[in-house]
Amino acid sequence: MSDVTSFLPEGLFEGKTAFVTGGGTGLGLSVSARIGRLGGSIVCASRDTNHHERLLERGREHGFEVMSAQLDVREPADVKRVVREAARRFGRIDILINNAAGNFIRPSLLLAPKGFKAVIDIALNGVFYVSREVGRLMREGGGAIVNISAPYASTGKPGVVHSACAKAGVEAMTRSLAAEWAELGIRVNAVSPGPFVSTGAADRLWPSEEMEREVLRQIPMGRFGTADEVAELVCYLASPAAPWVTGSVWTADGGWSLPQPMVSAEAAKVLRRRRPDT
Ligand code: NAP
Repeated sequence: MSDVTSFLPEGLFEGKTAFVTGGGTGLGLSVSARIGRLGGSIVCASRDTNHHERLLERGREHGFEVMSAQLDVREPADVKRVVREAARRFGRIDILINNAAGNFIRPSLLLAPKGFKAVIDIALNGVFYVSREVGRLMREGGGAIVNISAPYASTGKPGVVHSACAKAGVEAMTRSLAAEWAELGIRVNAVSPGPFVSTGAADRLWPSEEMEREVLRQIPMGRFGTADEVAELVCYLASPAAPWVTGSVWTADGGWSLPQPMVSAEAAKVLRRRRPDT
């Protein structure tokens, strides 16, 4: 399935349909392929269907069904249309992964209102539009929703105020909908990944080698995560293996959100050379 040891059993998603926004790249691709390999069918929804080809190819190779759907999650009418088309084709939607987002680094004094709005529209409003439409289908027979957040939802982060605000809203939405929809048998959880390797992240969040080194320095485990590592957790929460888990936010970040040390790594090395206190 991937280079990550998986504890998810064969056939876990047999007969289930998962709607994955941004399912053709990065984490979305990894989650979609994992659910498909474990027996599920996938609705892959994003603006540019050209990059759905890799998932379609994996579907052909491993025998799972993929519906490639052109969708901008910022458009409620389009969301309604695509969710209806998916329901017509598969009968129902059992799993929703709200993965689509946009992000870039910009100090807030230089951030244009339209840049702030664009990120909120995709990463927060879009999550509501899709959850609402899919939730209306799921109320017939239950389901599982996993939203993708980020650790700075609760701490804030200089340089990405737009994304931090969107993700904070996503976590509030996760808890609100989990409480509201529990009686309908719909579980709603979130996964909050730290910096993991994806083309989107590398291009926009650490576009130079120097910036990449800087981000790496902030990860106590000393390396970036991989999309597959994060996908494993997303799939667990989406699966029947987590039947009583709802309204929770799970972090997978190599320690990125833990407090940063008092002194630099260089200073720490000097301190370690000293004799220990007795
Ligand atoms: P990515 O590869 O850039 O994927 C983003 C996806 O969202 C793309 O497939 C894109 O497809 C889709 N998308 C963007 N705008 C859309 C819109 N308006 N409507 C529909 N789809 C749209 O990103 P990633 O790094 O895998 O990130 C996946 C998730 O993890 C995001 O929620 C991100 O915030 C979160 N995250 C990532 C990191 C990281 O370090 N990578 C860290 C923390 C959190 P189209 O262009 O075809 O629309």
